[in-house]
This record gives sequence, C-alpha cells and structure tokens, in this order.
Amino acid sequence: MTMAGEADLIPGIFSYCDRWCERCAFTARCLQFQVESGEQKSGSALHEFDALNAGFWQEMGEALVNAMRYIREMAIKQGLGVDDLQKETVLSEPPDSKYRNAREHPCSAAALLYAGMVNEWFAAADDIFEEESLLMNPNQPSFREPVEIIRHYQYFIYPKIVRAVEGRMNDIASGINEPDNDANGTAKIALITIDRSLAAWSLLYTGLPSQEDSTLSLLVHLDRLRRSVEVVFPAARSFVRPGLDA
Ligand code: SF4
Repeated sequence: MTMAGEADLIPGIFSYCDRWCERCAFTARCLQFQVESGEQKSGSALHEFDALNAGFWQEMGEALVNAMRYIREMAIKQGLGVDDLQKETVLSEPPDSKYRNAREHPCSAAALLYAGMVNEWFAAADDIFEEESLLMNPNQPSFREPVEIIRHYQYFIYPKIVRAVEGRMNDIASGINEPDNDANGTAKIALITIDRSLAAWSLLYTGLPSQEDSTLSLLVHLDRLRRSVEVVFPAARSFVRPGLDA
C-alpha cells in the first residue's frame, strides 16, 4: 500500500469527523482512512481528491446561506421576527439530573424525530420523486448530491447528540466545565452535519416546488434543533477539532 507522507498525517483528525471519507477533504492527512480503506492512491492524488471535496463543501456552504434565508422568510410570513427565531425554550433545557438518560433530553428526541421525518418525506415524495430515474435524469436539477447528504447524516445526528448530552450530564455531575471536552467536540460535529443537512434540504426546497411545505417543515425542525444544540453547548462551535478546524 502507498501511503501519503507520514509527516503530513494529523494525529486524531478522525476523532471528531463525520466518517464520510468519500466526501472528506482530509484523506491525505488521515491515518485512519489510509489504513481502513487500503487506499492505493499516491499522496498527490489524495490531495487532488481532497481539493475536489473541499470545493464541494464550499458550494454547500453557499446553500446553507440560502437555507437560513428561507427559514427567515417563513418566519416573517408567520409574523415572527428574527428575535423570535433566536429564542429557544423548548429543546434547550440543560441536560441535568431531571433526565434519567441522554436519550430523554429534548435535543435527542428532536434528532430522533428528524430521522423519522426524513423517511416520511421520502415516502411521501416517492411518486413524484422516483428516486432513481429523477436522480439520473440530466435534464432535472441535480438531486443526487443533496439526497446523498441528507441520507448520509440522517442517522448520524441522533447518536452524536445523545453522546454529547451524555457527556454533558456526566460533566455536570462531576462539576467539570472544560470548553475542550468531548461533549463540545461531539456537539460540534453534530452541528456541522445539521448545517450540511440544512443546506441539502434548501436545494430540494427550491428544486421540488410540489414538496415545498413538507420540505420547509423539515428545514424549520432542523433549524430549531441546531439553535437548541447551540444553546445547550455554547462552546461547541468554537471547539477546535484536530486538523479540521485549523
Ligand atoms: S477525517 Fe476524513 S478521511 Fe479520516 S476518517 Fe474522518 S472522514 Fe474519513
């Protein structure tokens, strides 16, 4: 096996990643990837692959801006202001001893609900969506990538939030309050995958007008979960993941 230069490898880069190596912009610097995949590409080929993936996620970052815009527009239509959107009182309770376990916390429950909502959305959209034919049709807007993103993260978000809440519960019980703890790192990757899912949903929102209402419901639910996780884990966004956030 040909490995990228070992000097380039970043220790622990895989600790807080999304485990989506096919879409990762850091394969050339990840020992886990190179060992697990038995990758045969040279270092420069891996760097090229990584650069393509970095460009892909940059484009998705632009889609996320649109997702936020749609959610704001919806809020205005419903008579809500930006301040109302910022308030989160339902899901963002501290993960303290009133919960017997992390799965009971409202953020965990909302993440599990989201996974089910995704299945319902795809089941309801089936008739018009005809996944395979529509995804393959070059004359249709490209749904392949947003669907791939949504499906990849659909069952990723819930266990990450449960783990983060569990970590926070343990920290509270032990009187620990360190910003660079595992709970914040885990909450950060949950937030990143929520952001990416929101971006992907915004592409489906504009591409499938007949599904506008149900897509908007998903966008709103996921956005509420995002804001709640940010409240419960205020240090998560600034957590520095090895290599990924440098
Ligand atoms: S850092 Fe990237 S390449 Fe390494 S395990 Fe995570 S997703 Fe895969």
